[in-house]
Amino acid sequence: MVDALPLCPSCSGEHTYEMSTLYVCPLCGFEWAASTPSDNETAPQGLVVKDAVGNVLADGDTVVVTSSIKVKGSPQGIKAGTKIRNIRLIDPVNGHDVDCKVDGFGAMLLKSSLVKKA
Ligand SMILES: [Zn+2]
Repeated sequence: MVDALPLCPSCSGEHTYEMSTLYVCPLCGFEWAASTPSDNETAPQGLVVKDAVGNVLADGDTVVVTSSIKVKGSPQGIKAGTKIRNIRLIDPVNGHDVDCKVDGFGAMLLKSSLVKKA
């Protein structure tokens, strides 16, 4: 048994058949694409990244670090209050969703929950 084929959208004929990714109606010759629900190539829903106090962050924003962040290889880490310019939002990597360059540290990933929009 196969699933019932859809009626022809053009003439409502019921003797449609499937031809690879198309349905074909032999009565009127109408062809239409078989629906492919698994084919979900749409862009992800707008990624909303919020800072420590709930402001929505955007690419290019300037933020301030709200609490000091430990950095491997640095005795002090990034101090609270450090200003970071021109951030870039990314798909979270281990919870880090802000890509930025910190003066004196270079490029790094931060958590949006540890910064505040300047
Ligand atoms: Zn038809």
